[in-house]
Amino acid sequence: MAKSAKAKRAGRLGRPPKDLAGDVEGRILDAAERVFLERGFQSASIDEIAARAPASKPTIYGHFAGKEALFAAVVARIIDGLAKLERYRPEGRTVQDKLTSLGIALVERTVAESVGVFQLEGAAMRQTLRDIESFCAADGIDADITHPGVLTVSNGPEQDVRIRQDLAAAERLGLDGFRPLSGPQCQDLVRSERLRMGHFEQDSLLVDPAALAWGLRRAAERRGVRIFEQTPVDDLTEVRGRGPELRTPFGTVRADRALIATNAYAHAIPALRRFIFTIYAYIIVTERLTPEQWARVGWEQRMGVEDKRIYPHFHRPTPDGRILWGGRDAPFSAEGPNPARENDPRIFGRLEETFRWTFPQLHDVAIDRGWAGPVCGTINCFASAGFLGRSQRLAYALGYAGHGVGPSHLTSRIVRDLLLGSGSELLDLPMVSKRPVPLPPGPLRGGMLSLAERVLQHADDQGSDASPLVRLALRILQ
Ligand SMILES: Cc1cc2nc3c(=O)[nH]c(=O)nc-3n(C[C@H](O)[C@H](O)[C@H](O)COP(=O)(O)OP(=O)(O)OC[C@H]3O[C@@H](n4cnc5c(N)ncnc54)[C@H](O)[C@@H]3O)c2cc1C
Repeated sequence: MAKSAKAKRAGRLGRPPKDLAGDVEGRILDAAERVFLERGFQSASIDEIAARAPASKPTIYGHFAGKEALFAAVVARIIDGLAKLERYRPEGRTVQDKLTSLGIALVERTVAESVGVFQLEGAAMRQTLRDIESFCAADGIDADITHPGVLTVSNGPEQDVRIRQDLAAAERLGLDGFRPLSGPQCQDLVRSERLRMGHFEQDSLLVDPAALAWGLRRAAERRGVRIFEQTPVDDLTEVRGRGPELRTPFGTVRADRALIATNAYAHAIPALRRFIFTIYAYIIVTERLTPEQWARVGWEQRMGVEDKRIYPHFHRPTPDGRILWGGRDAPFSAEGPNPARENDPRIFGRLEETFRWTFPQLHDVAIDRGWAGPVCGTINCFASAGFLGRSQRLAYALGYAGHGVGPSHLTSRIVRDLLLGSGSELLDLPMVSKRPVPLPPGPLRGGMLSLAERVLQHADDQGSDASPLVRLALRILQ
């Protein structure tokens, strides 16, 4: 009794009670952010947040409906700060809805700013394909380059819509290389009753990426480059005025300028980790088909085929007579590459399932093997190149997701121009001119990625575009 009377007196005459001092909402959010980051959402308690703010629990509930609303507000504030969103209010009832609407607001903004630059990048990529081919021809690299075109198909009603959107977008952008195909026209090219409609694009090339990498290695060595395989760079520092210094188990390399081109493995570098996440890509390959088995699927033109799932399947006949079947699951990881993920029987099994579903007539063709690898994702799906640090001596190039063979070639020319300081129109491309969008820190990063992965995967498995996150992803990927 005496205590509360004293508190009341203090409230009227002395220091204001803790709830009224300063910006209460700001203090509650500061405390909540610390507690959520340290303990994660499940273990964080309103009691601890109240004690740390300090603020009473009724005051907290006066500002935020509950722990979920507080968590959403913390995420909103972090993203607000990171991406300069002006006082964005998350919509939706559950944390999931709020996080989704936040992610959508963040990426929508980036995408809206980017339509023009996507077109620029598309033109540069078409030129890159021609450059790869002429480089290989000039240097005698046999990378098994062919031009059978790419057939993009629909396997379900939601994919029909995306095929039509592709064709409309191609028309809008004045790209005349896309030929619409009906279901029977697709099935004339590749015999599968699952193909409902599609489009065909001639302006593309198929390449053996390992043969290309080995050929590039020989071309570099011929020009005097020394390559040290199986030599990890364990530490990387920039010595003021002297340029980058790379430490390996066998010695230290000092250079005037250096490039980090380790794609998903750039996760090891904190300044880059903020902008990227790891995606695992999976492939299976069949045994060699007999001529009679090939006759069951047609595929005489031997073109590459993709479907229009969010995580697409991609397949092609290989030069030695197998079918390569990749895609479907593409797990996200907040933690960077982890070799344990390269052998996931469940994911290889799901890939085989869709192979069998697409080609039931190949029931007697066995799957020979499968493999997987880490690729590097960014929120806005842009590859990115730039400098680390002010000295402009240490550059990076990364973020190609599942399409790195062409873009890594283009980006290598960009970083060449960056590091040599030669002005070039390539430096206006979005990979350089657009800042990558940072991911939220700590457990929020993992939470957002696993939510996105779950929602997108579920949408593919259900064949449904209902979720707003799915609609956003499709907008970016179109
Ligand atoms: C299963 C699968 C299917 C794919 N399909 C396609 C496709 O159809 N079309 C397409 O265009 N792309 C495809 N990709 C993506 C493509 O392979 C990548 O985008 C491309 O390899 C990126 O090239 P990169 O040189 O930037 O990175 P990477 O090929 O990942 O090379 C990075 C290198 O850095 C090295 N490294 C990492 N850390 C260190 C360190 N500390 N010290 C020294 N070295 C280090 C690694 O050992 C590695 O050799 C596929 C990828 C996978 C895994």
